[in-house]
Amino acid sequence: MKTKPIVGILGGIGSGKSTVARQFANLGCTVIEADKIAHEVLDEKDIIDAVSVVFGKDVLSPDGMIDRPKLAARVFENAELLEKLQSIVHPPVMEQCERLLARYLTAPAISAVVLDIPLLMESGLDRRCNVLIFVESPPSACLQRARKQKGLSPEQIKKREKFQISLDKKRKIAQYIIQNNSDLSGLAEQVAQIYSAVMK
Ligand code: ATP
Repeated sequence: MKTKPIVGILGGIGSGKSTVARQFANLGCTVIEADKIAHEVLDEKDIIDAVSVVFGKDVLSPDGMIDRPKLAARVFENAELLEKLQSIVHPPVMEQCERLLARYLTAPAISAVVLDIPLLMESGLDRRCNVLIFVESPPSACLQRARKQKGLSPEQIKKREKFQISLDKKRKIAQYIIQNNSDLSGLAEQVAQIYSAVMK
């Protein structure tokens, strides 16, 4: 039997990884979205408690939930705090990714799984993929998108990227490179080409 494709998407902040993942979903692939899972994990009571023990109640919003932008601002200023947060959040996020992956791999109706996991290589989940794609996008476009979508300044992006494996290393391990330097239809065309090669 042919191995079910597990497609991992790599690329810089704001490069278009989730957009590419959505385009694979439009072609019938099932996507595991780590950002969404991380948001759900941060809403769990025991995680909120663990985070407020480390960071204090000032990272909570008035409704008792975690104020994610406030927490992000704290951790990206301090490697030690980032590590502490990751030690709380990373294990349950990875467990859920693994649970979903196991479920999707055995579901006959699912033909391919796409991992939209921003820290794919850092988490080691790239080793579970049989297809790796790097999304290449001009740095100025990445900055503009990240500012528009997440309100991040160029300095904030630089700080975040400092904690990540270099784009060069990510590009090197990919079998496919998508150029995200035009419009969404240009991107969709490249995704469709890779999809048909992978599904052959
Ligand atoms: P992050 O690293 O922050 O998770 P990402 O790499 O997943 O970001 P996306 O969320 O896919 O990036 O893209 C960022 C924004 O840029 C989105 O609003 C998306 O719709 C837009 N975008 C991406 N590529 C294009 C494109 N070629 N044309 C127009 N808009 C685009």
